[in-house]
Amino acid sequence: MSIIKLHDKYFKSYISEQQIDAAIQSIVKQVYEDCKDETPIFIGILNGCFMFVADFVRKYPGKCEVSFVKLSSYEGTNSTGKIKQLVGINENLENRTVVILEDIIDTGNTLQEIYEIFKDKKLKHLKIATLFFKPDVFKKELHIDYIGIPIPDKFIVGYGLDYDGIGRNFAEIYQLTTPTTMKNIVLFGPPGAGKGTQADLLKEKYNLMHISTGDVFRYNIKNETALGLLAKSYMDNGDLVPDEITIDMLKAEVEKNNDANGFIFDGFPRTESQAAALDAFLEEKGEAINGMVALEVSEDLLVQRLLERGKTSGRSDDQDESKIRNRFNEYNTKTAILKDYYQAQNKYFGVNGVGAINDITKRLSDVFDKL
Ligand code: AMP
Repeated sequence: MSIIKLHDKYFKSYISEQQIDAAIQSIVKQVYEDCKDETPIFIGILNGCFMFVADFVRKYPGKCEVSFVKLSSYEGTNSTGKIKQLVGINENLENRTVVILEDIIDTGNTLQEIYEIFKDKKLKHLKIATLFFKPDVFKKELHIDYIGIPIPDKFIVGYGLDYDGIGRNFAEIYQLTTPTTMKNIVLFGPPGAGKGTQADLLKEKYNLMHISTGDVFRYNIKNETALGLLAKSYMDNGDLVPDEITIDMLKAEVEKNNDANGFIFDGFPRTESQAAALDAFLEEKGEAINGMVALEVSEDLLVQRLLERGKTSGRSDDQDESKIRNRFNEYNTKTAILKDYYQAQNKYFGVNGVGAINDITKRLSDVFDKL
């Protein structure tokens, strides 16, 4: 999902080009079915409708005429309900079938105005087609013949629709959103440092989503998914799973939880290219990493801890000292440098990871509170 900023407001992607295209195709089909024996006049209501009309008439398979009227009733993000101007139609519409093409109908004030204007023009038929429709705010008894996509009462831009003049040129629809200032924390440390244990406690305390890439891989291996099969041989040896696989998986996990208050990333990033990919990915969303919080524990202590854990955790990579040493080798050669990566952004916070679980949680919380 991408976030854009227009003037002072943020908008998130909402309706894709493909969805718009399919909706228009469906309206075209219905209109053609009703009008194929005549030459309808399609009248667009400017400005917002220009893209819709252009795409609509290009798809329309029959004979037709195209014209526009201009009624402006919008200022900012709220419908003022006041129609301010009208540029009329010069065609003789008597006994013709007119199909009004609207980009969006919300309160129905504009639609009412349209009905008023065309009432005394002696049309054969007046039909209304709208690409978007807000059923929750539509207050009128007026009939709408063709509806593309019903949407909730949220302000939208793109595909001809603007926010204070801009945004009309986007090919897809964006929806007004409040910028979520997430708390995104990388919980860092060598294998066995206690990241998983602490993340479980901290996610509750701070209402964050905990993503452990190791857990996701283990889940996939257990369920014998394609991803699991890919990752298994690397994990069994204590090697890192290749970056592309891991990065794609991480992005998918984040996307699944877009509504979260923020994330605790545990076991990710583990290479500089993963860190850069994470930064770029979050930036696209208007988000960022608040900090890397690192559990600092010496390697010798950890090897002992992991061997202990291996007796009960069922993790094959915890049971063999040479595999454990290889995980530290991977950590020292590829992962440890991430300290520099985050330090360069003033985002590295080291915490003593030796002691009782509660004491360590307290030390981590002191840092979390500041981020
Ligand atoms: P963990 O549970 O974090 O100790 O991860 C266990 C294993 O999963 C690692 O030894 C790697 O094989 C794999 N893995 C987990 N996270 C990553 C990552 N970010 N990049 C590459 N491999 C990973």
